[in-house]
Amino acid sequence: MKINHHPQAESLMSCSAGSMPEAFAAVMSSHMTLCPECQKELAFMEAIGVAMFDGIAATPVSGDAPVMALRASEAGDDAPVAALNASAIPEPLQRVIGTDLNAIKWKRVSPGVWQHVIPLSKTARGDLRLIKVAPGKSLPEHGHSGSELTLVLQGAYRDSTGHYRAGDVADLAGDVTHSPSADPQEGCICLIATDGKLQFKSLAARIFQPFAGI
Ligand SMILES: [Zn+2]
Repeated sequence: MKINHHPQAESLMSCSAGSMPEAFAAVMSSHMTLCPECQKELAFMEAIGVAMFDGIAATPVSGDAPVMALRASEAGDDAPVAALNASAIPEPLQRVIGTDLNAIKWKRVSPGVWQHVIPLSKTARGDLRLIKVAPGKSLPEHGHSGSELTLVLQGAYRDSTGHYRAGDVADLAGDVTHSPSADPQEGCICLIATDGKLQFKSLAARIFQPFAGI
């Protein structure tokens, strides 16, 4: 796996110091299992006394909460996204969603876009979810009221900040506005942590947002 996009140094520091919110730590620890480069960086931090890599690896990502049962989406006429295979799921995430990917209940939030919300511990700040986007589909242009950390699990997407493939992380600050567009052949499935609501630009998307739960 060739990884081109990594978390920002500040995020690595926060993660190594154990101060990263649970949802973000889940994305980070999932990326770590795929990325020797970031593993080395964390090992270096540990060597200079600011990291505890073992602690990060053991960070609980969802407590003992069961995976939220969501209604299966209507199939509609949306283009299919290739089934996610177990090998695409980093080990920390397998502990949360299991390895039987066919058992995941996707909820359709708009044509060609599905989500699966992953429950966090009661005191956790932010949200953690899987998002699946059909080939060639885009999310409406939006900004963020907080930061957003995304790990591509399968397929790819591109936006104004770059082209992200499986294993890549997009570590976005709150001031970034983007409209991610899924790969035209493969679509994409991503693990996304957010600590604030998305801020959609279009009126239609803003009206729809409370119903979509994003
Ligand atoms: Zn990395």
